[in-house]
Formats: sequence, C-alpha cells, structure tokens
Amino acid sequence: MNDYPELKLYIGGEWRKTAETLPVVNPATEDEIGRLPHAEISDLDDALSAAVQGFRIWRAAAPRDRANVMLKAAAILRERQEEIARSITAEHGKPLSQARLEVIRGCEFIEWDAGEAVRTYGRVIPSAPGVRYVVHHQPIGVVLGLSPWNFPMSQPCRKVAGAVATGCSIILKAAEETPAGALHIARAFHDAGLPPGVLNLVFGTPAVISDHLIRQDPVRLVAFTGSTAVGRHLTTLASENMTRVLMELGGHAPVIVCEDTDVERAAISSAARKYRNAGQVCTSPTRFFVHESIFDEYTDKFVRRAAATVVGNGLEDKVEMGPLANERRLPALSNLVEDARSKGAEVRIGGSRIGNKGYFFEPTVLVNVPDHAKVMQEEPFGPLAVINPVASLDEAIEKANSVPFGLAAYGFSNRADYIDRMTDEIEAGNVSFNTLEASLPETPFGGVKSSGYGREGGIEGLENYMVIKNISHSMQ
Ligand code: NAD
Repeated sequence: MNDYPELKLYIGGEWRKTAETLPVVNPATEDEIGRLPHAEISDLDDALSAAVQGFRIWRAAAPRDRANVMLKAAAILRERQEEIARSITAEHGKPLSQARLEVIRGCEFIEWDAGEAVRTYGRVIPSAPGVRYVVHHQPIGVVLGLSPWNFPMSQPCRKVAGAVATGCSIILKAAEETPAGALHIARAFHDAGLPPGVLNLVFGTPAVISDHLIRQDPVRLVAFTGSTAVGRHLTTLASENMTRVLMELGGHAPVIVCEDTDVERAAISSAARKYRNAGQVCTSPTRFFVHESIFDEYTDKFVRRAAATVVGNGLEDKVEMGPLANERRLPALSNLVEDARSKGAEVRIGGSRIGNKGYFFEPTVLVNVPDHAKVMQEEPFGPLAVINPVASLDEAIEKANSVPFGLAAYGFSNRADYIDRMTDEIEAGNVSFNTLEASLPETPFGGVKSSGYGREGGIEGLENYMVIKNISHSMQ
C-alpha cells in the first residue's frame, strides 16, 4: 500500500526496527497494510534513558526556541497533509475529508501550545522589605503519553505539544491499531530539529509498556486518553509513585432538546454529527432527551438524516462514514442493541453489521429505551443514538446527569432561563448550546466525574506539564 509509511520506533533521535512485529489492518478491507514494531523491555529502557537525557537538554532551552521548533514541525505537517491523511484513512477507516481536517486540527494544537510556551508566567508576591517571594512554573519532567486510536494524529499531537512546549521530554505510546499518525508527528519534529530524546515513540503491548514505565522514577506525568476502565487502572499504578496523571476518559454525552427548538435544524445537525468518525468520539452526542411535544417530529427528521448517511471506504468520494476502527467494536455494538431491544426499545433504523468484509456498522437509532438498558449507562463509542421523550427540563437534566460520565453535553433552546439552568446544573466539562462543537485548541477540554481530570487546550492546558516552585529570597 503506497500511502502507508514503514513503521519504526523512534528512540533518542534514531529510527529503530524490532524483531517482533504485528499486522496493521485496514478496517475497510481487512487487508494488512503494514507491520508494527513491537518494543521489548530493552527498547523501553532505552527510551527512558533517552527521555531523561532529552529532558536535561530541553528544559534549558529558551521557550522561544521551543516554540520555533514546534511551529516548524507544524508547518512540515501541514505540507504533508495529504500523505498523512491517506495513511490515517488506511489504518482507521475515516473518510479522507475528515482525516485531512484532523491533520489540520493536530497542527492547530501544536501551534496553540507553541504560543503558550512563551507565556508560562510566574508571579511576585509582595512581602516585607528586603524579602521576595517569586513563583516559578517549571517543566514536570519525563512524560508518558498514551494516545488512542480514534484520532490517530490529533490526539498524540495534544500530548507531544504539551510536553515540548513546557520543556519536558515525552515517551509516546500511540495506539497499536493506528500508529501512522504518531509516526508522522515524530518525523516532523525530527525534521524540525528537535534534539534527540525529547520525543520518543514506542509501540507494543499496552499493558506491558504502561506497567514497565509508569512506576519508573523519572516519569512524572502520565497523560492518557482512552476508556475510564483503563484510566482507572493507570491512575492506580501511578499512585504508587505519586505520579501526576492527566486523564481524558470516556463520555456518554446527553443532548437536551427543548420544546422551543427549531426542530429541523437541531435534528439534522445532530444526526450529521452523531455519525462523524463513526461515532467513535468521546464527545459524540448519544443520549437524546427530547421534549414530548416535538418528539415524533424530531425523531422522524433525525432518522431520515441517519438513513441518508453514505457509508463506505473512506477513500471513496462522498463517503460520510467509514467502518468501525477495529473488529472488537462490532460485537460490542451488537450486544448493546440486542440488550436494549430485549428490554423493550424500538430499533428505528440500523442495529447490525453491514456485509461481512470490513468492520462496517449501520447508522443506528434506538427510541424509547428503558433506563435499565445497558446502553443508557455504557458508552457505545459507535454510530448509535438513543432518542427518548421527556416531559420537562427537570426530567431531562436529571437523566442527563444520571451516568458516571461528565465530558460533553449539548442543549438546544433559545430560552435564556433554560440555558441558564442547563449551564448551572449539567455535570460536564464542556456544555454546548445550539451547536455540536465542543472544543477548540484555545478552549480547555476535559471532564468531571468518571470522565477524568485535568484539561487539554486553552490557557489551562500546559498546567499539567509544569510544577510550581515558590522561591523566597531575603536580602542579606
Ligand atoms: P480499551 O479500554 O481496551 O482501550 C482503550 C485505549 O486504552 C486503547 O487505546 C488501548 O490501546 C489503551 N490501553 C488499554 N489497556 C492499556 C494499558 N494497560 N496501558 C495503556 N494503555 C492501554 O477499549 P477499546 O476497545 O480500545 O476502545 C473502546 C473504549 O475506549 C470506548 O468505550 C471508549 O470509552 C474508550 N475510548 C475513549 C477514547 C477517548 O477519546 N476518550 C478514545 C478511544 C477509546
């Protein structure tokens, strides 16, 4: 496959092959498109030594110099947009147009953090004559970045950008199913002149890598995006060394649709958004609570838009939704649908795998789903929407908050009193009204409750990567 790069580890500024490799599969065709090098413990130890050395060099670099390397790397990635997008579509399945946008979003994350690199201000605290207190922000040290497969390029960009901007070094373990995005990032930073050891890239068995590296003393931050179950496990491991964690975990986003809403606009925009990235987005709108007076009209319009979704190989023109990124998501989704159906839900559209080649799943809408169905608590992380009627805003808010997650939430209304109530009462890190856009590089993104803690992006994003040191200084 021409578009797919040769996969290697990147340790101490050098590319490395390994004896053991695993296949990387195109989820639209099930063809093998590459071989993933599998790090051994000795590779991990080398990455750690390189990161320790890289940290020594990079923490001493001027913030402006760090920013310049980052901006150069982002410019290189922008030049390589088409090549990178094609490799993302090949390994992940998403439509090429969405992969192209993802490359640009990844660059924007790097560019935002490059701008923030020169603004990690401390402060002077007034005191007695001859005494000064000065607060410094200093890089935390070696970061272990663990990025997921749903956004192979933009997710690792967040972690690399945070570390590089603040003068940390990072060992990035990118997702085994979708390694090319991270490989392209490492190539771009290498070509931009990042010193050896500041960024190191490994792949392998996730549990072996995290188990070996998290408890190593030089690792001072574990930055993870993925499921709540894995995040909880990694947090427990990190706690042995009191290592800081940044956890961007699962969501199960509610959408509250009030009776004063423009039904057509809300239904069409929500259905289009639901099936983006085949629903494999932690902020994907999933539990729709629609006022009973507009429920039928809303559901009909949503289902019609869902039915019109063009599903296929992401390399083909006009395809809006590709396959699921990996095979194990097929039974996960089928089980949620069957469980809901057996408990009385109506499957208005979809609910099944498409064909038997490629991991395609139908755009799915379940309605009137009882609260005790698994899908009301478990994040489907796929092209599945639940639409239920509610009698009041009180009921909608109560249902919205009835899951352990609190990442993204959405509301549709033009009434100021409704928007005020949802702003105050919805338990989520990101709440959007009359739009399905949840974040930008310049806004802080993260969750509450079991969706994790810490924020990526915004002026808050770099805080995770720094420690605060207070200096008291008395004039002799
Ligand atoms: P999973 O729980 O098996 O894995 C989730 C991620 O964690 C993967 O990237 C995996 O490589 C990594 N991982 C697993 N065990 C690990 C370990 N011991 N150490 C380090 N990393 C480890 O789930 P899955 O089947 O890959 O994905 C489905 C679920 O993951 C979804 O339900 C969703 O909640 C979650 N997810 C969330 C995001 C997000 O953006 N928050 C992204 C991808 C997956």
